Amino acid sequence: MAPPPALRQNAAMDALDPLAVHERRVARDLALLNYPPANWTATVLGPDGAPMPDVLVVGAGMYGVAAAGALRMKGLGNIQVVDAAPAGLEGPWVTFARMETLRSPKHLPGIPLGVPSLTFRAWYEARHGEAGWERLYKIPNADWQDYILWVRRMLDLPVRNGVAVRRLAPAEGRVTAHLATPEGERVLHARRVVLATGRAGTGGAFIPPGIDPALVPRLAAHSSVAIDFAALRGRRVAVLGAGASAWDNAATALEAGAASVDMHVRRRHLPQVNKGRGSASMGFFEGWAGLPPAEKWRLLAYMHDLQAPPPHETVLRTLRNDGFRIHFATPVLAARAAGAEVVLTLPEGREARADFLIIGTGFVVDGGRIAELGDLSAEVALWGDRYDPPAALRRPELARFPWLGEGFELEPRQPGAVPGLGRIHLFSHAAMASLGAIASDIPGASVGAERLAHAVAQHLFREDLGAVRAALEAFAEPELEATPFFVPDAIARP
Ligand SMILES: Cc1cc2nc3c(=O)[nH]c(=O)nc-3n(C[C@H](O)[C@H](O)[C@H](O)COP(=O)(O)OP(=O)(O)OC[C@H]3O[C@@H](n4cnc5c(N)ncnc54)[C@H](O)[C@@H]3O)c2cc1C
Repeated sequence: MAPPPALRQNAAMDALDPLAVHERRVARDLALLNYPPANWTATVLGPDGAPMPDVLVVGAGMYGVAAAGALRMKGLGNIQVVDAAPAGLEGPWVTFARMETLRSPKHLPGIPLGVPSLTFRAWYEARHGEAGWERLYKIPNADWQDYILWVRRMLDLPVRNGVAVRRLAPAEGRVTAHLATPEGERVLHARRVVLATGRAGTGGAFIPPGIDPALVPRLAAHSSVAIDFAALRGRRVAVLGAGASAWDNAATALEAGAASVDMHVRRRHLPQVNKGRGSASMGFFEGWAGLPPAEKWRLLAYMHDLQAPPPHETVLRTLRNDGFRIHFATPVLAARAAGAEVVLTLPEGREARADFLIIGTGFVVDGGRIAELGDLSAEVALWGDRYDPPAALRRPELARFPWLGEGFELEPRQPGAVPGLGRIHLFSHAAMASLGAIASDIPGASVGAERLAHAVAQHLFREDLGAVRAALEAFAEPELEATPFFVPDAIARP
């Protein structure tokens, strides 16, 4: 028998929009998991008399979305999420990440938080079919961004874009956030804050010493900002560094018609093995936090010393263009402007000239330079405050990593010195030294978000115990009302 017309119509529409079909499956999966669970925390008023959100998540990039989703899965629905960027432009993927595809392999689950239909693969197959998935080599950046936005929509996360946190002031029982919003300056008191502010969030872009800051923006730019590549057509470009981003920028400049790109590198050759990939296992993700500090440090120093190579695809992409030269063992000692040119000072009194310099030297990690904390950041405990490595393993850059609690909490250098500092959870690559790569790259995202949400739930439960207990005592649903053993008087009195 033919199906009724309404069903026929649905089937036809489903064929036209397989993603809509998949979204119904996601909704069903979430319903099966009883998502979102009921909120259980107490209502706590801020100093302005308004109820405070339990958590303010700063940043709606990959990690902010994962954090917010994991919090909601713990019955923590009283949260707010803000991102300074316009919707769709969070994080690096479609802004300053200038590779063609992610570096990561396509089979990583993404940020599904344990829900199979929320994996990248499920989303991609819904749009392009299984054959499309088989054909996919690596994930194009824009697809990755779309996927993160889609997860955010599926989990119904309360994100406000265009809202920047300018300053955080921790205090007893709360953290006060000073916000710049489209409607003007606002103050928001929250019980806890998750800083998911990305790679640049704990120290900013790294500009090597000797580079005259006055070169920026006319004659130089860090690779993490917008660059007008069309304006580099026919120009001589110098690139500092040989990491993945340095190569992505070299390729982009050449593809945009730059006459030449000269890449200056301190090393004698490129790193050969990506130990980050070699350590992207559940063992590292789950085990790192439990290691003694000395063992964490030995691993950290080992990976830091070896560095990671650029992906071979990026190198080959660059080499497909004429005009590329790489100068190994050639540190740039200084860079200054000379008229319309950049003059680079090289070893042995040599010089090189360019029309534009791209600084592809990555990001600093410095717990003492968290912009949102201002001067208070100097009070944040660092690894250098808490652990003294053997002389052969001293690495000043690593000593600036923040020393975090098990749930990504900041700690003050002097115990008790900054009330409320531990209410701020630093959920970014800066957590690597303390907790492993569970807030750094794509592979560790679900583990990190689960760890964070677990810790936040524990803190809030402990703090709300009085209210939780009162709610428990007030809970009086009579189980036995329908039976002969119902004793109404015994409900309040065991
Ligand atoms: C160029 C590049 C390429 C990468 N490629 C890969 C890759 O292929 N594979 C991989 O595993 N990892 C990769 N990574 C590493 C990592 O996965 C990314 O850095 C990823 O973006 C981290 O997600 P996040 O949420 O921590 O930070 P982000 O995605 O950077 O998100 C942080 C968000 O916080 C917002 N924000 C910051 N400060 C404030 C504030 N004060 N107030 C409000 N909002 C704020 C920003 O607007 C931003 O949207 C790459 C990193 C870079 C930089």
